Amino acid sequence: MLIAHVALPVPLYQLYDYNLTKPAQIGMRVKVPFGKRNAIGIIVSIDHQTNIDVKSLKNITTIIDSEPLFTPDIWQLLNWAASYYHYPIGEVLFHAMPVLLRQGREANKTQITHWQLTELGVNIELTALSRAPKQKLLLSSFRNNTVDSINVSTTIYNELEKKQLITRVNCQADNIMWQTNFSANPNLIKLNQEQSYAIDNVNKQSHNFAVFLLEGVTGSGKTEVYLNIISNVLATGKQALVLVPEISLTPQTIKRFKERFSAPIDILHSRLTNQQRLAVWLRSKNGENAIVVGTRSSLFTPFKNLGMIIVDEEHDSSYKQQEGWRYNARDLAIIRAKLKNIPILLGSATPSLETLNNVKNHRYQLLQLTKRAGHAKPVKQSILDIRGLTLVAGLSQPLIEQIKIHLHNNNQVMLFLNRRGYSPLLICHDCGWIAECPRCDRPYTFHNQSQKLSCHYCDTPRAIPTQCPKCGSTHLVPIGFGTEQLEKQLELLFPNTKISRIDRDTVAKKGALDGYLQSIQQGGAHILVGTQILAKGHHFPDITLVGIVDVDGALFSSDFRATEQFAQIYTQVSGRAGRETKTGEVILQTYHPEHPLLNVLLNKGYQEFAKQTLKERQQTLLPPFSYQALIRAADRNNHHAQKFLQLIHDRLKEYGDNSLWQLGPMPANQPKKAGYYRWQLLLQHTNRQLLQLILDKLVIDIEKWNETSKVRWSIDIDPMNN
Ligand code: ADP
Ligand code: ZN
Ligand code: ZN
Repeated sequence: MLIAHVALPVPLYQLYDYNLTKPAQIGMRVKVPFGKRNAIGIIVSIDHQTNIDVKSLKNITTIIDSEPLFTPDIWQLLNWAASYYHYPIGEVLFHAMPVLLRQGREANKTQITHWQLTELGVNIELTALSRAPKQKLLLSSFRNNTVDSINVSTTIYNELEKKQLITRVNCQADNIMWQTNFSANPNLIKLNQEQSYAIDNVNKQSHNFAVFLLEGVTGSGKTEVYLNIISNVLATGKQALVLVPEISLTPQTIKRFKERFSAPIDILHSRLTNQQRLAVWLRSKNGENAIVVGTRSSLFTPFKNLGMIIVDEEHDSSYKQQEGWRYNARDLAIIRAKLKNIPILLGSATPSLETLNNVKNHRYQLLQLTKRAGHAKPVKQSILDIRGLTLVAGLSQPLIEQIKIHLHNNNQVMLFLNRRGYSPLLICHDCGWIAECPRCDRPYTFHNQSQKLSCHYCDTPRAIPTQCPKCGSTHLVPIGFGTEQLEKQLELLFPNTKISRIDRDTVAKKGALDGYLQSIQQGGAHILVGTQILAKGHHFPDITLVGIVDVDGALFSSDFRATEQFAQIYTQVSGRAGRETKTGEVILQTYHPEHPLLNVLLNKGYQEFAKQTLKERQQTLLPPFSYQALIRAADRNNHHAQKFLQLIHDRLKEYGDNSLWQLGPMPANQPKKAGYYRWQLLLQHTNRQLLQLILDKLVIDIEKWNETSKVRWSIDIDPMNN
């Protein structure tokens, strides 16, 4: 009798055993009875053994796939990752699938349908739909090819279908053999020596695993290097995967990719429908596209013949998933390249200390671009001491004067403030009451434009109170400032200048960002206000002044990574100034002009900063000179979570490894979130393998305890930003 061990998308580590009565292979999806319902799972292994009483063993209902769903490298990667991250294999496998496949849809293109205009839909007068404005909007967007960017419910689609204006058609397999007439458009740029050296080095090792770090300041021509290397990969008929931190901000880069290659490029962005996502997944698996560009989760795209992975802005913290399965896509990309025996290129102006340490240990090969490409000159940087100065929404008079000068010369100015909203506090002027989110015990941020309070910890909005609940006063005042207020203040100061605010609130609005970007590209005096989103891979050739409004929070954080991240953001943001022919200037406002970090950064640059900080980490045995795991637990009554972590702490002591260092249990950095009280226990070890073994053993123990069911708990391997 054959037993299939099946992974189900449930938060438990175990596999579920079923009787296998039909031929099947590891990696195929199956339908199985699970409790009172049917569930979809994946066969992880097949053998003759089970711990379950054979009589009570149930049969697999249906075998969905006719071949294993994932490619062998992805399958290995996911199995490796489940074990490394100590996360349930079922959840890992399902996370890596497009939604429609999780729901049991066939992994086959003919199953994908999309909407198309009918003959009638093309010709009918739009006025015929005057009384159904949403239907009219949808029909006209079909005609203008803008369906992707509008948001109407499926009922509206169905209405149009009933009127025979649109119809569902099946997607045909492309079966494009793009390889047969692949070409790269001739490159008009003459590469500099460093670029050529980098490209040659990667090309020479294009047939085996090797990790390269391409270190180059913004504008030094990294993207140009990517394009050349990819060109070589595609010319051999292989595909390339490009990971980027934030796709909505990279339209220019994507345009360059599309212009360079006569080969299909798929972009995985958040606005794709589930159907489109599955279509891309299948195209890559069938080898029908040449390049896939996408964010974190695109890493799990299967390829028929992957030849190269590029991770742009490798230091960016958005590669780390911060909920559920907390993987790091940059790290997993390296594992994938290793499993597949292909090269991987990490690019950054400000490499992470982990990566720099790997370069130092000769595990990664360093390729440097030290000069700005073309004619761009180095930027002028200065610290502006704001002690004793009057600030208007965070802006000092000297900074305002500088902004005036740059705008007067018809140049653009970028102001960086890492805090969105109008102000971070709403306070009762009469009694001092602060509007706080009851689920997180943290102040609400006041949003003036949407006229709402919003909790930035649990993302819950709330109406603005008209009265103080404590004393009844109606005199509630916003305190402090965020990007929204800064924008408003700038409108008053510079009434005739175009101002664009770029932060999560404005980027969320469909189409708004495209509009801003276009308007900025047109050139002319313009002020950009934004959060760190602005730092992510964007080319604004007319920016000559970058103002950093408020940095002091980052200088005094308790998180050991905060200074590294500040240094990265500072370097990225200041790299936005003065590309191409215009000289750039960076002004940093601070109350702490003597701070050593600022002085190293400004006078010696990121590399020197990184060198010093790595030394400090080595002395204090912090990562990358040790390895961490953070065990989190949360409950609703602030009782069990701490107790649970204390149990873990005591059990780990019993294991008797004196090199294991424990910190906690202690309240999490944000002790309360969305109604849960949160605690944590930090583990640190100088030996990664030993830490892994300890966790393997611990997980088995934890699953047996009664206390475990009373908390929400998780393990975060290589944690960031706690
Ligand atoms: P990065 O990705 O490092 O920010 P890019 O590759 O986008 O840099 O290059 C910045 C600008 O310089 C682009 O406009 C690009 O076309 C141009 N550029 C790149 N390499 C060269 C070169 N060797 N000579 C002239 N211009 C170049
Ligand atoms: Zn009050
Ligand atoms: Zn909250």
